[in-house]
Amino acid sequence: MQSIKQVLSGDSLDMPVRIRGWIYRTRSSGGIVFAVIRDSTGIVQTTVKKGTVSDGDFESASNAGIESAVEVQGTLAEDNRAPGGLEIRASGFKVVAFSEPFPITEYQSTELLLDQRHLWIRSREQTAVMRVKAAMLRGGREWFHENDYVEVTPPMITGVASEDSTQLFQIKYFDRIAFLSQSAQFYLESLIFSCERVWTLTPSFRAEKSRTPRHLAEYWHLEMEAAWVDNEGNMKVQEELVAAMLECAADECPAELQLLGRDPATLRKIAPPFDRMPYAEAMEYLQKNGFDALWGSDLGAVEERALTKDRETPLFIVNYPKELKPFYMKGNPDDPRTYKNSDLLAPEGYGEIIGGSERETDNALMIERLKDKGESLDNYQWYLDLRKYGSVPHSGFGLGLERMVTWVCKLEHIRDSIPFPRTVARVYP
Ligand code: ATP
Ligand code: MG
Repeated sequence: MQSIKQVLSGDSLDMPVRIRGWIYRTRSSGGIVFAVIRDSTGIVQTTVKKGTVSDGDFESASNAGIESAVEVQGTLAEDNRAPGGLEIRASGFKVVAFSEPFPITEYQSTELLLDQRHLWIRSREQTAVMRVKAAMLRGGREWFHENDYVEVTPPMITGVASEDSTQLFQIKYFDRIAFLSQSAQFYLESLIFSCERVWTLTPSFRAEKSRTPRHLAEYWHLEMEAAWVDNEGNMKVQEELVAAMLECAADECPAELQLLGRDPATLRKIAPPFDRMPYAEAMEYLQKNGFDALWGSDLGAVEERALTKDRETPLFIVNYPKELKPFYMKGNPDDPRTYKNSDLLAPEGYGEIIGGSERETDNALMIERLKDKGESLDNYQWYLDLRKYGSVPHSGFGLGLERMVTWVCKLEHIRDSIPFPRTVARVYP
């Protein structure tokens, strides 16, 4: 048995081949069935001629509709009308399972495709996205391994509602309530005192009520935290990691990327260092371009789009005003109105994919900020403990995997970067 990718590599020309997969499309005309077969690696045309295969096999091929599972053997031949220029002339055609009429045909509404998500994920675009995502993850994992990071496993269930509690999912936890994690950051921070450099990939849950093309209620969050690293060092990690993920995608998935309309060469060109632009400068740029960008206003999708639409490489926005960011970030001594933090914006208008910062080490400052926000200190006791026993400078960040996939795969909506998207409107299938 060969994969379709192997067959199409051309080495098997005029040789016997055997494949299995699902019927992608099929038509027959005058004693010949043209069935295009799909497997996880690609599609190939097969021709099944009456008389060349057994009568039973020809009958099967004639009756098998889209998505029937089949096994085909035959000879690989050149045919410039076939996709890829090659076709399999069948000597045998076995149906493993006939398919009922497939509910998805061409030109379906977005809603129907979401209702039929369990079937729609068989589409070539969705398959390509999943492969690209897997390659990006592999590139990231290898980068962390090569750079001595320990992969750790923080909890997804947490006991206290911290920060932005409006976006927390509450669950029944035995006879109490608990919450689903929005970020593993605090747990990672506690682990640097033994492991020094840690990373993790976990789902993060956010009850995002606004329907935007870049927010999911459940997304995969790649987070890292490292001791002895300042904000500049933190950005270096981000740019190296992102470049490694892009390189792996370009190496392993050139055909998938092309199918999605992404030239792999554009990804290979992206190399550290990425540009850094202070928030204040971003505001000036926006004002010059017709935005009401006043100091202290946040950068949303529209502003981030304006900042990045003409760029081909990612851009760090650094030193945001304190009022826009959480209490645990390290103050910026060069401009006390701001933090030593960064958001990494993807180019071509895609916008934020990473948020990171150096972390505050001064408990008194953090306590003051928490009080200003009206937070109960009880909820943060264990976190504040971390600064009491040999606190060290440290930094970390969180990368939204689906945000990055949306950019790399040139998707219009984040829901297509994950097989089963969870949004306000949808938890089925
Ligand atoms: P935004 O302002 O876009 O809502 P955020 O400031 O809430 O983002 P962080 O809390 O810094 O984001 O989370 C780290 C990263 O996780 C973000 O840079 C982004 O890539 C990703 N992310 C955040 N919220 C979502 C979401 N609802 N769906 C998908 N990815 C998300
Ligand atoms: Mg948010």
